[in-house]
Amino acid sequence: MSQTQFADKYVLVVGLGRFGGQIAAARWLTEQGARVTVTDLAPAEKLADSLAQLADLPIRYRLGGHDERDLDGCDLLVVSPAVPKDRSDFVKAALARGLPITAEMNLFVERCPARRIIGITGSAGKSTTTAMVGSILEAARRAGVFPQVWMGGNIGHSLLADLTRMTADDAVVLELSSFQLEDLGTLRWSPPVAVITNIQPNHLDRHGTLDLYADAKMNIVRYQGADGIVLIHENDAVVRRYVTAAGADGRIRECRFEPKFEAFLRLPGRHNQLNAAAAVSACRAIGVSDEIIAQGLGECRGLPHRLEFVIERDGVRYYNDSKSTTPESTCIAAEAFAGTPTILLVGGKPKGASFAEMGRLLARTCKHTICYGQAGPEIYEEILRGRAPGTPASAVHVSTFAEAVERARQMAVAGDVVVLSPACASYDEFTNYEERGEAFRRLVSR
Ligand code: ADP
Repeated sequence: MSQTQFADKYVLVVGLGRFGGQIAAARWLTEQGARVTVTDLAPAEKLADSLAQLADLPIRYRLGGHDERDLDGCDLLVVSPAVPKDRSDFVKAALARGLPITAEMNLFVERCPARRIIGITGSAGKSTTTAMVGSILEAARRAGVFPQVWMGGNIGHSLLADLTRMTADDAVVLELSSFQLEDLGTLRWSPPVAVITNIQPNHLDRHGTLDLYADAKMNIVRYQGADGIVLIHENDAVVRRYVTAAGADGRIRECRFEPKFEAFLRLPGRHNQLNAAAAVSACRAIGVSDEIIAQGLGECRGLPHRLEFVIERDGVRYYNDSKSTTPESTCIAAEAFAGTPTILLVGGKPKGASFAEMGRLLARTCKHTICYGQAGPEIYEEILRGRAPGTPASAVHVSTFAEAVERARQMAVAGDVVVLSPACASYDEFTNYEERGEAFRRLVSR
């Protein structure tokens, strides 16, 4: 399709949101010459950040609600994957008028020239697996395997603006949510290499039943050609059943984590071995050698602030899990490092959750826990209560975040990991968890 097909067309962007896909679509369509109206149920105040990103463009807005008069003369609707299309009166009115509806990801895949495309979906592990594939592809690009590589989709980056620079020989990795896959069904398109990390009950508010939710996800394999490849985990009977029901069982390849990559994988926990197994198989499927895969995997630090590998200093590895603001997520972090001597930093502004269970786990699994901030004394008490009788308290409490990091640096010895996993909000010392994570990175890197 020509890039000028939108010249003077009236396109309605429905649902702007804050995560970027629709913002990118509004910009791209405007730059293609379309007359764009953006409409959202939320009022302008709630969308200020998104609106600021479009401030330089001649876009018309209808915010704080939809108005069916905006459908008059409309050539195309680009509806956000977050809008429940079967429940939105506005979308239903558009359908009743016979107006064409598409989505940002559909606009992209219709125009994507690259032959090698890896699509990744699943209930958990999508972003991490996508980030691992992204790191491996980047290593492959440097080695000259692909001219360029592109990572986008649900991971938080729209590739529409990159289309003009993409070529047939480039490699693309797309994280695809079940909502995006539902939209892609109308194109009858599936990526040549599809990864399904797992299927668990999730988003059932939107999809109704697990079967309907899984069915939407199966669009990732349903329209592949005969040479398509479906990657699932070894012994994942649930995913296998859904892939089989979608008629793609003949294209299944199982992935398992191979010990030879263990030394390269910096992200902790069994679940990250699974994610790595899928990433390795996907990159092999598009012709990347094991040597480059190992190198790229070793460069993957994971997602910012989620058990993100920061740096290794004097044999001590530092991890930033600032996104953890609940005791449950800190328990997951502690379990991910079970078996490795762990110094854990925990604290901040309490949100009212009980720290009792976490205290017991930290007392049992961590070499040392440094409690800080407003919640510091309470968490410290829970660890003392949770430890086995007669064992020395492997915990201290200090007042500030900076003191906690300094203390951890002093006590850590080669072979230890130092993990920031606060289990609390950050507001007693920071604006948000991102700022807290940045502060951690800065303090341990200097
Ligand atoms: P998604 O993008 O699918 O939401 P992420 O990669 O962002 O998933 O991981 C979110 C959380 O899901 C992780 O912090 C971890 O607790 C859990 N998780 C990650 N990978 C897996 C996996 N393969 N299986 C089960 N849980 C996982």
